[in-house]
Amino acid sequence: MRRSIGGSHRFVPRLILWVLAVIGLVIQAGPVSAQQSRPDDEITKLADDVYLYRHQFHQAIFITTSHGVIVTDPISPEAATWLKGEIKKLTDQPVRYVIYSHHHNDHITGGSVFADQARFVGHAAAREKILQAADPTTPVPELTFTDRMSINLGGKQIELIHVGKNHSDNSLVVLLPQHKLLFAVDFIPVDTVAYRALPDAFPDEWIESLKRVERLDFEVLVPGHGKVGRKEHVGLFRRYMEDLRAAVQEQLQKGATVEEAKKNVRLPKYEQWQRYAEWLPENVEGMYRYLSQSRQ
Ligand SMILES: [Zn+2]
Repeated sequence: MRRSIGGSHRFVPRLILWVLAVIGLVIQAGPVSAQQSRPDDEITKLADDVYLYRHQFHQAIFITTSHGVIVTDPISPEAATWLKGEIKKLTDQPVRYVIYSHHHNDHITGGSVFADQARFVGHAAAREKILQAADPTTPVPELTFTDRMSINLGGKQIELIHVGKNHSDNSLVVLLPQHKLLFAVDFIPVDTVAYRALPDAFPDEWIESLKRVERLDFEVLVPGHGKVGRKEHVGLFRRYMEDLRAAVQEQLQKGATVEEAKKNVRLPKYEQWQRYAEWLPENVEGMYRYLSQSRQ
């Protein structure tokens, strides 16, 4: 009895201290989390001479060689200006090539900062759209291809492959066979659902293009947003697209409207993925629109 009374007396001040400690943590949370949050611009070494650079929510890779540097998506004028300065700290070599993953301007503006030294590379269909967009910070690619192109520079081999239509009609993947590394933008999100209502996309060809990527020889998958993955993430995302397609097809067969389909389709296998709650209904809407058009 005495023990328990004594115990509860000791407990009260401890509880107060604990509450004060929690309040202290809450008060500190603002500045502490601001200090700990990641910077806007960051470079991470992925392998010998292969680097990931990130600007806010966008990222791309660059490769340094003894005969020049190969940059992929410049992202934006601010990002590209920062990147140019960072590359100078790593090597005296100029940027020889800038490779556009696809034509979407949230990934490829700003390349003009490299225009004095680099040649710009993209898919032939990307060139047409970049010409139309006429953004002065986005040089039009002069080196284009439709299926496949190799760049050999300073002993490094870089394969550019168009695996078919998917998130756009002009996406290419950058394969570094010596590092078994693949850079692919916006069409193979890692543990993340697809972007919104699949704008610009070709869903059936997208699934086929993922199967082609699954046949390439690589281990590390670098996306244009989010965490770096492994080859198995390609198959996981392909199954997501197949499951999404099948679920929406079923809704169409039942005569559901797009609003009903957005409410009804749940893919619990993927609920741990990024953006699931936010973008799954939009993915459903995009797939619904595509399947109902292709039925006509
Ligand atoms: Zn895109």
